[in-house]
Amino acid sequence: MKKVIIRKNEEIENWRRNINSDINFIPTMGNLHNGHTKLISTAKKDNSNVNLVSIFINPLQFDNKSDLENYPKTIDNDIKIAFSHGADAIFIPSNEDIYPPNNKNIKFLKASIELSSALCGLNRIGHFDGVCTVIYRLLNLVKPKNLYLGEKDWQQLVILKNLVITKKLNIAIKSIPTQRDFDGIPLSSRNVHLSKNERELVRLFSNHLLLAKKKFKQEKKINIKEIIKKLSAEKISIEYLEHLHPYTLKNTEDEDNISILAGAIRCGETRLIDHVFLMKRSPIIAIDGPAGSGKSTVTKLIAKKLKLLYLDTGAMYRALSWLLIKENIDYKKEQELNNILKDISIIFKSNANAHQDVFINNYCVTEEIRSQEISAIVSKISSLKEVRKFLVEEQRKIGESGGLVAEGRDIGTTVFPDAELKIFLTASIDERAKRRKSDKQSKDSQDIDLKTLKELIKKRDFEDSNREISPLKKANDAIEILSDGYSINAIVDKIIYLYNEKIPKEIQSQ
Ligand code: AMP
Repeated sequence: MKKVIIRKNEEIENWRRNINSDINFIPTMGNLHNGHTKLISTAKKDNSNVNLVSIFINPLQFDNKSDLENYPKTIDNDIKIAFSHGADAIFIPSNEDIYPPNNKNIKFLKASIELSSALCGLNRIGHFDGVCTVIYRLLNLVKPKNLYLGEKDWQQLVILKNLVITKKLNIAIKSIPTQRDFDGIPLSSRNVHLSKNERELVRLFSNHLLLAKKKFKQEKKINIKEIIKKLSAEKISIEYLEHLHPYTLKNTEDEDNISILAGAIRCGETRLIDHVFLMKRSPIIAIDGPAGSGKSTVTKLIAKKLKLLYLDTGAMYRALSWLLIKENIDYKKEQELNNILKDISIIFKSNANAHQDVFINNYCVTEEIRSQEISAIVSKISSLKEVRKFLVEEQRKIGESGGLVAEGRDIGTTVFPDAELKIFLTASIDERAKRRKSDKQSKDSQDIDLKTLKELIKKRDFEDSNREISPLKKANDAIEILSDGYSINAIVDKIIYLYNEKIPKEIQSQ
């Protein structure tokens, strides 16, 4: 495809009509650095859409005249950089193109009051209104499928996500982690204004934040006053330093697993921002749903794609059943059962084929637990109160440090009620019966007629939903997905999309 530079609104409309492809849009203010190029190359890698980079210094978002006048302008170099990192087209509009004088159709927007009443919004009056106005204007001109934004400007990202929702735009926002320079400071076009001494202060500031993150991981708490004291002792002029919920930007609560420590400092004439995400444990995805809804296939694929541990709770119940048979334990005798539960260890390990093996008391039982013998008793075993209690505790132990996706029937309600993302995956009885009939692995189901299969599924649903211990139940905060008519890959993509909505990319890449 021929690379083009577009300067006029009319040209962009013509170009859009001719490309015959969806658009990835990467808005910038120019003076491109490795933060911008990472956005462009990520968009290029993500899909086969056409990548459009815009370069426009938006006067509406500057609350300081000299900051606007001094904003670095390096357009020729920017064009080279953008094209060499994967831009297919560059949009360089003039002020008049974006804000035509006397054009009553230009909508001057207000950013969400809730989200702009924190952090930078408190001191930079009108800044986020200006950002929303220009991005909304650009989105209406470009009409992209995906909008690529940097997490470096986290508050801006949260506000623009809100804009896309409130304006009901059919655009997916994709983000990249903050890109840092060799000394740990976030890459920013404004860094060119820093003297050597000022840069050293920014370095100290960023390194204090990174240190606080490290400490939080161990201690699970933070002392903002102490950090402010240390920064002040270094003669760093702090505009704000706040510990907030990353999406509401309100004070973080004790039970929040992920929070943000964000600050702004002044170095001479330059104002710089930085933040870190604090996490008590890595994220958890809980996938619950009735038998035959496709949970295990979906969960395995999600684990692989997101590089998370796949906590196969069903395999744990099966492994325990295997051991009870092997050791000849009469599980109906409480004492006998409790005795063996005291000495059980179940672990998962990746094997050479990039699959996962399950071990119980050091026996690798991955294959054996899929036998008919185990299938016949696992349901009974898993309904025993002692077994349930023991395995839920084991699952929580495995989940202590997070970084996993678990599937079952009580994951979001009982095992990990604090999971970041809870999915309730269902499928109609008709669909599940059809799937079971064509499932090559469950040969027995192929010989049963559809009507009987449907009755069996209904019966199983009733039993699962009405059992006394950990019944199948949708958690209040779970997102229900009905998988009828969708391919496995479509469901996986949807869940990964929801995960990306809830978990900053920065955390995912740690
Ligand atoms: P700007 O040119 O400053 O308006 O930035 C354009 C886009 O690049 C925004 O989405 C920014 O969040 C993103 N960006 C700027 N600097 C960085 C960085 N250091 N790391 C990641 N993204 C960045």
